[in-house]
Amino acid sequence: MEVLVIGAGLAGVTSAWYLSQAGCKVTVVERQSGPGLETSYANGGQISVSHPEPWANPGAPATVLRWLGRKDAPLLFRPHADAAQWRWALAFLRECLPGRTVRNTTAIAHLADYSRDQLRALRASTGIEYEAGTGGILHLFEDPKDFAHVPAKLRILQDLGIRAQILDPDQAVALEPGLAAMRGRLVGVLHGIDDECGNAHLFCRALAAKAEEAGVRFRFNTTVQSFEVLKRAISGVRVEDAEGRNGMLRADAYVLAAGSYSPLLARSLGERLPIYPVKGYSITAPIIDPERAPHLSLTDEARRVVCSRLGNFLRVAGTAELNGYNLEANPARSAAIVRWLDERLPGVADASRAEHWCGLRPTTPGNVPLIGPGRTGKLFLNTGHGTLGWTLACGSGQAIADIVTGLRPEPDFPFIRPR
Ligand SMILES: Cc1cc2nc3c(=O)[nH]c(=O)nc-3n(C[C@H](O)[C@H](O)[C@H](O)COP(=O)(O)OP(=O)(O)OC[C@H]3O[C@@H](n4cnc5c(N)ncnc54)[C@H](O)[C@@H]3O)c2cc1C
Repeated sequence: MEVLVIGAGLAGVTSAWYLSQAGCKVTVVERQSGPGLETSYANGGQISVSHPEPWANPGAPATVLRWLGRKDAPLLFRPHADAAQWRWALAFLRECLPGRTVRNTTAIAHLADYSRDQLRALRASTGIEYEAGTGGILHLFEDPKDFAHVPAKLRILQDLGIRAQILDPDQAVALEPGLAAMRGRLVGVLHGIDDECGNAHLFCRALAAKAEEAGVRFRFNTTVQSFEVLKRAISGVRVEDAEGRNGMLRADAYVLAAGSYSPLLARSLGERLPIYPVKGYSITAPIIDPERAPHLSLTDEARRVVCSRLGNFLRVAGTAELNGYNLEANPARSAAIVRWLDERLPGVADASRAEHWCGLRPTTPGNVPLIGPGRTGKLFLNTGHGTLGWTLACGSGQAIADIVTGLRPEPDFPFIRPR
């Protein structure tokens, strides 16, 4: 079976790998010059199984209202005269209902748990290196009111089979001495024991190289422009290369893994995907005091900031901005991340030499990705991974390979059913 994968980010590269392992002849079409150069380039690095709760939860509307008008707010909504943005915002509100939140959290947790296991198996079988860090994620709490909800969160995680524990500040510093500088701020910590971290861009590159060895063909600098449809099924994709040459590529199945651009491509097929680009920022700063740099990945829940040690660098990422496909960097947004680093881990990394980056999370209202067949014949979706595309990558890649080849995917997850 010949399969064409559109996009070589985390979703596309993992789809290609697992499809090739299933015996398919795979071609990946990517408009950039290499794998993982858009949203999968400089994310927070977390494999965060212990944080399955989506942004859309019963507390979100009040939190978002509180942040309105603050330029450095963790979540910023810039209204546009864009029906897609308003449709998405309304759907987001609907996903804040308690029942929807439970459903979405459960679905994400099942896929995330499976995905982390797939990642570990992949690492063991291929030996790929991507600055992986194990030992868990520490969720930091500085406000007693926020920390009061943690026992209930722990119970939810335990019910979902996710190992986690509550630590007091001294226990947290004993586990992660890199927290010593912020000891005085902490009221408590939730430790996601089996979480991991790693450099998503290096992962994409390393896995793409392995996939190439296994026979996958990558066509970089090639943009998919549109689909050709015959009798309600895709018969080919029109592409253009860097020299402006056009061509048509054909396959037996087409996996759409184009991140935030998936809905724009799907629109030409008459399919409306509920995905909106949610911009986030990161800085990658060289570590100047390795002794004091944390080894475990950190999450500051209240400020929506995460921090991961990747090789000789600290990656600090966060913030969410609903501002269309605008990829301009807003200095006020990255300044909030720099401030977090300087205040919580002073003298550990040099923010003045940091690489600044922003990317568009392909986000569905409930943060549950779209995995399964599209409405058009031969179309398959592996997209919409939002805030957790790195966490969910390997599980989603294996699942779409199963679906395309007619197998039933393993996790208990609301995969799209064939129509
Ligand atoms: C600031 C920030 C922090 C994050 N932190 C984390 C984290 O800690 N943990 C976690 O799990 N997730 C995190 N995420 C989310 C995660 O990075 C994304 O969910 C994930 O990268 C999405 O991968 P993707 O493959 O779907 O999209 P992308 O990586 O964007 O890949 C899509 C690819 O499709 C290509 N493409 C698009 N259109 C076309 C076309 N027409 N023709 C050819 N190619 C095309 C693009 O060039 C791109 O390479 C974070 C995201 C951000 C922005």
